[in-house]
Amino acid sequence: MPLRMSRDDLIELLRRQGFSERILRAFARVPRELFVHPDYRDLAYEDTALPTKNGQTISQPSVIAEMLDALDVFPGAKVLEVGLGSGYVAALLSELGARVYGIERDPELCSEAQSRLKALGYSVRVRCGDGAEGWPEESPFDRLLISAAVPRIPAPLVEQLVDGGIFVAPVGSEYSQRIVAYVKRGDALHPVYVGSPVVFVPLRGRWGFR
Ligand code: SAH
Repeated sequence: MPLRMSRDDLIELLRRQGFSERILRAFARVPRELFVHPDYRDLAYEDTALPTKNGQTISQPSVIAEMLDALDVFPGAKVLEVGLGSGYVAALLSELGARVYGIERDPELCSEAQSRLKALGYSVRVRCGDGAEGWPEESPFDRLLISAAVPRIPAPLVEQLVDGGIFVAPVGSEYSQRIVAYVKRGDALHPVYVGSPVVFVPLRGRWGFR
């Protein structure tokens, strides 16, 4: 089946939304069709969330771009993503020059993301389990990203962010959130950006929804 929107079409759409050339370059380098469920490959470059497996999704490209923009990743930054899913966002973070760490709760998605990223040549460090507990042995991180909806920012993660570090997450209720970016000053997070409404799959576990 032919692809509907091409990778170039998606980049053009993101360019019109005002994202930086650096972010556009990252999207141009990562083959999204290899991260979505095989049944949805023809839709890989539509600006929409798509199923991965086990009821989970790969996020909408323009929303990912908004999160990456808010995260302000510099080359060499140590970044932790909670909710690795397919590994697509981790691949984009790698293309932005970050040293990427990803945690995924679903064991099947986790091992698939790990082998997919490796096969594509991305050296993302992967851990399978509850990401809300973070990765204390590898902390502190310069940037922290939660790619699942949260009612509030999990306290263990705040401790694992450097002073002055940026934290981005979709925060709100189980069915509607906003992308929020915070800067850590001292021990506390201060919101610096609130985006438009989004719908992410919920974070599960003690710090998530049920
Ligand atoms: N960033 C992903 C999409 C994430 S969807 C991508 O690029 O494809 C959200 C993911 O968060 C799902 O895969 C879900 O299994 C995972 N998740 C939910 N609760 C979690 C938790 N407590 N710890 C780690 N991952 C979690």
